[in-house]
Amino acid sequence: MYTIFNQPSQFTIGSGKQIAPLAESFVFIVDNKNNILLLNNQVPTYSKIDKSIINSTTLFLFGYINDVACYCCFDDNLQSNNNLAIQNIKASYQMFSLEYFQASLLANHIVYWLRTHKFCGLCGNTNHFSNKELSLKCTSCNNTTYPSIAPCVIGLIYNEDKILLAKNNNNTNNVYSCIAGFVNPGESLERALEREVHEEVGLKIKNIRYISSQQWPFPHSLMMGFIAEYDSGEIKVDYNELSDARWFKLNELDQINLPSEISIANHLIKHYILCNDNKQ
Ligand SMILES: [Zn+2]
Repeated sequence: MYTIFNQPSQFTIGSGKQIAPLAESFVFIVDNKNNILLLNNQVPTYSKIDKSIINSTTLFLFGYINDVACYCCFDDNLQSNNNLAIQNIKASYQMFSLEYFQASLLANHIVYWLRTHKFCGLCGNTNHFSNKELSLKCTSCNNTTYPSIAPCVIGLIYNEDKILLAKNNNNTNNVYSCIAGFVNPGESLERALEREVHEEVGLKIKNIRYISSQQWPFPHSLMMGFIAEYDSGEIKVDYNELSDARWFKLNELDQINLPSEISIANHLIKHYILCNDNKQ
């Protein structure tokens, strides 16, 4: 099943080959707060953007929209004016067509990678864009650095006619969502989910089934979504991570705030409801 992040579109990911931008190339200028700079509410083309706000030596070709090259670069002091607007990327799916939204997501991920890997991790010299693949190359020791991706698991837990949803401490919108966390080195995805569920709500789970995945480039996660069945235990909330966790019947879900429709958590909940409807 596709989430909005993964639906086929006219956006394709670049191979890493770097060439100079053309007048019609798109330039995705991104800051460190998940924002993108828009010109007249659109992603600017190279010919239209004021060259004083981009450093052309840091323009990185990361993909194509209908064969038009997409470049990204970073600027932590984005300035708006009559024509220029600062747009939050997570919210941009409501205003962009799918290919521009997907390109903005990848731009956010690539920009974070570029800004955190300016120097070689082995010898400390400057990294340069590779022309052969999506990577950075140290010209001094030849070390190759690939884009960082942090694997995360997220699980919808069910128990007979109820599902478990939790409110994260960092969530200010009162949203109830699925249990999620980063995968530790040495763990399988299933063991990571078992550990996260046990740590955050004190429950044991069984029958873990993979459903789908999606990138979450804020800044560089890959979310892998599961549905699992409750096995044993009473809910014991880890208040360092969560402010609440409860069982909800499906007919109670319209009384709470569910995760954003662009999130895989929303996708998992909808998937579970759909499967439940089909069983009845
Ligand atoms: Zn090096």
